Amino acid sequence: MACCGEYDSEQQEEFWPTYAENCMLDSDCQLVRVALKFGSVMNGPHDRKHRSNRVKSLAARLLMTSALMLASGCERDECSVLSRQVRAGDVFNVSGHGHDFSPFCDAGFEAGQAHARWVAEAWGEPPASFDYQLFESRDDACWPCRSGTVGCAWATHLAATDIPHRHEIAHSVRGLPCPRLLEEGWAELYGAHFTNGVYWPPMTDDLREAADASGLTFLPHKFYPLAVKFVAFLLETRGLDGLKALCEQKIDSAESLDSALTKVFGQSLDDVSAEFDNYPPWTLGQLRQDQACEGTAITSAPGTWSMNLECGAPGVEGREDGPLILHHLVDLPEPGEYVFSFDTSVNFFVTLQLRNCTSEGLASIYHERRFVYGYGTPKNVVFSDLPAGVYVFRLELQDATEPLALEMAVTTWP
Ligand SMILES: [Zn+2]
Repeated sequence: MACCGEYDSEQQEEFWPTYAENCMLDSDCQLVRVALKFGSVMNGPHDRKHRSNRVKSLAARLLMTSALMLASGCERDECSVLSRQVRAGDVFNVSGHGHDFSPFCDAGFEAGQAHARWVAEAWGEPPASFDYQLFESRDDACWPCRSGTVGCAWATHLAATDIPHRHEIAHSVRGLPCPRLLEEGWAELYGAHFTNGVYWPPMTDDLREAADASGLTFLPHKFYPLAVKFVAFLLETRGLDGLKALCEQKIDSAESLDSALTKVFGQSLDDVSAEFDNYPPWTLGQLRQDQACEGTAITSAPGTWSMNLECGAPGVEGREDGPLILHHLVDLPEPGEYVFSFDTSVNFFVTLQLRNCTSEGLASIYHERRFVYGYGTPKNVVFSDLPAGVYVFRLELQDATEPLALEMAVTTWP
């Protein structure tokens, strides 16, 4: 395993996964490693303004050549990319590592492309193309991300064990142009449903501490909720242009954030912090943006519909072994109490999410998440104080050993 040499840890950047145990074993793996090294260089704050696809391509070729020379003589016995396949898409191509894509539900592939186009539109620029490396397992010898992480993005590459991985897509489709604090805030704002929703405690609300952490190799997760809130705050109060202008600055400490805010907005960190502290205390779940709200097939209450949570069924995202995710839009014409009823003959355990598509600024005026378990009996899930409007009703089935076909109904309660 020493054939690929050691990394220079001082050069590591946020999106440069560690390879201590992942020797690069064939040409495709070399590509991964080369891209990572290149990504770390291009993520440096001084390079941000000068990135272009042409430069990336040129530098990647140079680095690839170097890596091919370095890696000659590697053993070729562990890396799954020996059976690499590609599924082309309009924004990104998906590389299947060691599988033929069959473990992954079909609807997720188009949902990924749609999410990429949607995020690019929100960012106000054409989507950047990238290579989506889809692994069956993080135990794969070629898994390029840090241990303990569910995915990573760097330069023009992304690695994940599911599709769509909305958080990483939100990084990659924009070319990762921001300092860490802002980059992670944006990616979480446009990230996956259910992930760290309302139950993720805000571990810190100290913007200075978060700015200092922005200079670390990886932004610790405890700062993500604050990062989302700060990005949403910037978008609402300074607009997309303000956020982009701040992204051009070097932010790796409280001092540099102070300088950046002064330069871009003419306000000190103290001034902006005071304003930010009075920002409404939206949760991450409320702030998370949801493309599903733009759908047009809507059931009005009282009403019924079917949900078939089976990999391969229309609209179902996920993997054969789960979790499986499906949503439906419901219009509640009057505010009040409503009951959502499920009827099924099989055992199930689902996470349920209800999101009002009306927002104040970037925050949904209602977001709730519940865990629901049932065994061959109808379930009634009651929600109180629901504002009127269109909602995304979304289910996540954890254990997909058995298909779950639900007959749904919604009506006022009691
Ligand atoms: Zn991220």
